[in-house]
Amino acid sequence: MINTNIPVVTIIGGGFCGMMTAVHLCKRSQLPLKIIIINDDYPFGKGVAYSAHTSKYLLNVRAINMSAFPDDKEHFLNWICKQDDYKAIGKTIMTNVYMPRKKYGEYLTSVWSEMLQNKNETVDVELISDTATDISKGPDGYTVKLKHARPIVTDFIVLATGNNKPGNIGITDEAILSGVKYFSNPWSHASVSNVQSEKNILVVGNGLTMIDTVLGLLENNFGGTIYTISTSGFSLLPHKYNLLVYENIVKELPETYTLHSLLTLVNKHAKSLTKVGIGVHLVIDALRPYTQQIWQSLSFREKKIFLKKLSYPWNALRHRVPLHIYEHIQNLRMNKKLITFSGKLIQATATEEGISAVLFDKKNKKEETIIVDRIINCTGPQSNIHECSNTLLRKLAEKRMIVPDELQLGIDADPATAAVINANGEKSNNIFTIGSNLKGVLWESVAVPELRVQAQNLAITIIDKAAGHLLASLTSLKKKFEQSYIE
Ligand SMILES: Cc1cc2nc3c(=O)[nH]c(=O)nc-3n(C[C@H](O)[C@H](O)[C@H](O)COP(=O)(O)OP(=O)(O)OC[C@H]3O[C@@H](n4cnc5c(N)ncnc54)[C@H](O)[C@@H]3O)c2cc1C
Repeated sequence: MINTNIPVVTIIGGGFCGMMTAVHLCKRSQLPLKIIIINDDYPFGKGVAYSAHTSKYLLNVRAINMSAFPDDKEHFLNWICKQDDYKAIGKTIMTNVYMPRKKYGEYLTSVWSEMLQNKNETVDVELISDTATDISKGPDGYTVKLKHARPIVTDFIVLATGNNKPGNIGITDEAILSGVKYFSNPWSHASVSNVQSEKNILVVGNGLTMIDTVLGLLENNFGGTIYTISTSGFSLLPHKYNLLVYENIVKELPETYTLHSLLTLVNKHAKSLTKVGIGVHLVIDALRPYTQQIWQSLSFREKKIFLKKLSYPWNALRHRVPLHIYEHIQNLRMNKKLITFSGKLIQATATEEGISAVLFDKKNKKEETIIVDRIINCTGPQSNIHECSNTLLRKLAEKRMIVPDELQLGIDADPATAAVINANGEKSNNIFTIGSNLKGVLWESVAVPELRVQAQNLAITIIDKAAGHLLASLTSLKKKFEQSYIE
């Protein structure tokens, strides 16, 4: 406990997870508490996902499922229905709409402002725009080192560091890596800007970020050809049957799972739905509330098999695209404005005409060389903490304060409390994590419907621990006082 006796919680990262953890701490703490949030790069609260520069980038989750609060499921829906642009449409329609992520960012700002107005006065909140670079343990608690400001001494730390930038896609040509034609951060506005005069663009990745990138390029009047490539090829699926809920599989979920028994069950239900013209989508949707539990009960070997053989179809079924966007993309593909490859970028070389990109086309089993004006890396966040763009995570991993989970998808942590586990296998009493850092531990740990629950639970855990700290500190003060009185 630091010498003010008021427990200090430092949250590193101010995206959805960091902000919502702070919201719950403020709302629920009956005790004095100091909350410090350190955030860099993206606007506070909005993070990378909800600070989109254009309204063309949509949520991939329906409005009804995007409340920031797990116990007030219509909170976002009610907010959006009161906004001038949407109030005439009505709640029934708005329930099923995929809103612009930019608008969702405004909603999160309103959640934060409302919380500040109503918060308990004994809770103090401080926002610091800076980068946390290191954490060390000292006699008075933990010290968080910052890039610019003075270090912070704290009792509890939440690593809410969110989405790392994508990893390297095998480009070795320095002229490309350090030049202006390669965009390693697909979420930067620059990656889709100033494209009017360009003819060909290569997008590496065929997932949801590829879709955003294509929409962004077209919005900025790109008139040429977009090539995309990924090992699994174009396998995105649209959101259909929004109003249908299928729960029969849930009734048959066993007490303990094996990958094989689950697959058999999923296939059985998918088969009966396919008979009536509905695919496996609804089965996967029905499993979503149970996915974390299922994941934890699988063995390491089963998880590895899942990742190798089933994660692509799973991701395609789980992370679907709003129907009208899907149709737009398919139109672009039919008109050869968008050419999607299944395969690998083998080599990229800077030439006078542009970047010469050699692709291995899996379908035709041959190499193809294209000349492109830019390459945009849309391969998704790099999850290996030893290799990721986040210097803090790399540093903590180097110091063995955190370790990768067994699948190297994030940080190893206790699934029940989100306390990080160090290289000696010890659970921390003071350092916690949330969000995509827990992907290896929970698998389903990237979208709002899961993250809002994590933020609430984590705040409850920390408040409980902070109360324990406060009590211990008061007891020790009392003892010191009694001792000095006797003397
Ligand atoms: C492009 C995109 C679109 C998405 N769309 C949806 C969607 O439609 N629906 C949905 O449910 N989910 C969506 N997601 C998932 C999304 O990741 C979560 O919904 C949520 O936004 C994650 O929030 P976060 O706080 O964990 O991470 P982030 O939003 O990444 O925020 C982390 C913050 O921490 C900061 N930070 C990191 N390290 C440090 C450090 N050392 N010091 C200081 N600051 C640091 C970062 O700069 C950033 O501001 C999307 C994700 C992406 C990338």
